[in-house]
Amino acid sequence: MDFSFTDEQRMWRDTVFSFMDREFPRDVLRKHDQSREFPEDLYQKMAAQGWLGLLIPEEHGGLGMHNDPVMFSIFCEAIGKDSLDTAACIMTSMFTATNVSRHGTAEQRERYLAPFLRGESKFSVSISEPQSGSDAAGARSTARLDGDEWIVSGNKVWCSGAHLPNTCIAMMLRTGEGRYDFSVLLVPNDTPGLEIQKMDTLVRRSLGTTSLFMDEMRLPKDALLGEVNKGWQYIGEHLDFERLSIASSQVGNARTALDDTVRYLSERKAFGKRLADFQVLKHRMAEDQARLSAAWYLVYAAATTMARGEKATALVAQAKLIAAQTLFDIAFNGMQALGGYAQLPEYDMERYFREAKHGMVGGGTNEILRSIIAKSMDI
Ligand SMILES: Cc1cc2nc3c(=O)[nH]c(=O)nc-3n(C[C@H](O)[C@H](O)[C@H](O)COP(=O)(O)OP(=O)(O)OC[C@H]3O[C@@H](n4cnc5c(N)ncnc54)[C@H](O)[C@@H]3O)c2cc1C
Repeated sequence: MDFSFTDEQRMWRDTVFSFMDREFPRDVLRKHDQSREFPEDLYQKMAAQGWLGLLIPEEHGGLGMHNDPVMFSIFCEAIGKDSLDTAACIMTSMFTATNVSRHGTAEQRERYLAPFLRGESKFSVSISEPQSGSDAAGARSTARLDGDEWIVSGNKVWCSGAHLPNTCIAMMLRTGEGRYDFSVLLVPNDTPGLEIQKMDTLVRRSLGTTSLFMDEMRLPKDALLGEVNKGWQYIGEHLDFERLSIASSQVGNARTALDDTVRYLSERKAFGKRLADFQVLKHRMAEDQARLSAAWYLVYAAATTMARGEKATALVAQAKLIAAQTLFDIAFNGMQALGGYAQLPEYDMERYFREAKHGMVGGGTNEILRSIIAKSMDI
């Protein structure tokens, strides 16, 4: 397997990494984390580049990168390099937009996809419920047809970004008795009968996440995306790609966390020498570097396999498991290396550490990923 980047991939890497440094420097990003404000400015700049449409085919107004997981992984590595929360602010909408592109009617694309590509609106996705997270098919909120309208009742949780202005929620709702009988309805977040409550979370502070309460919420019949009872399939169809993208942003962020640690240990002095001169700390950094390289190569091995059109569910699960664990371990070691200063937001390590912990849950917990890997081993 050839892991060297082509000229095009190298240029794309330089373009996105320098864009992020220029347009969303760390001090600005940090303020968003502290004030819990969505980075609208960055979102608009992404839209102006056309990058919100990276995963949308050209015939629907996008840039058609949906068939190029390596190029998209490079993008995710860049947008996640300083913050997994920032990566989520951009990626969450992008994946749901692919569902609308693939399964939406011309009217739905005109109503939701076109403004999204212009940066005028956003998407969020609502699967999880208070009693069902990993076991997503345990969701109970229902949609039933009453003449020309859907009536929706129930309670969703952890719906990231649902509170932001002009957001369309792709809501997975039970429409049949079978375990996987779900449909996806497209729900504008100002729909009467929908109550949205922001949750006070440790992570995802600039994207924000919410609880949704639907009390006999009414939607027109054409709010249905695609066909009845196909929602489970639609939500699952980009799961590997989504997990690969999260893993890519995790290795991007792990690189930054390790660089910050190395810089601190190289500058800080104790007992008459640099902290980096103590062998115990030097070896810890070397170990972290080796594990980061392993995680990075695994992510791009999974991306390359997907790019060949091969099914890569187990390999992607391995990539996300190792990337999540590596980021967590590097941020944990960074917290120790920075001593008391690790507690201060301006050193960024506490933010990496918080986000890294959630990285072992969001997009499939480490335990669920292990189950997927074990299944591929027939155990
Ligand atoms: C900040 C944040 C943002 C989120 N954003 C969204 C969003 O936008 N949309 C959305 O739909 N959801 C979202 N989620 C929900 C997220 O997908 C779930 O939290 C995740 O799927 C885990 O579900 P749970 O929290 O209910 O934990 P549970 O599923 O209850 O798991 C609890 C623990 O049990 C373990 N466990 C569960 N089943 C097994 C098993 N079979 N074998 C071994 N261990 C197991 C898990 O690994 C975990 O450690 C978000 C969550 C958070 C915290």
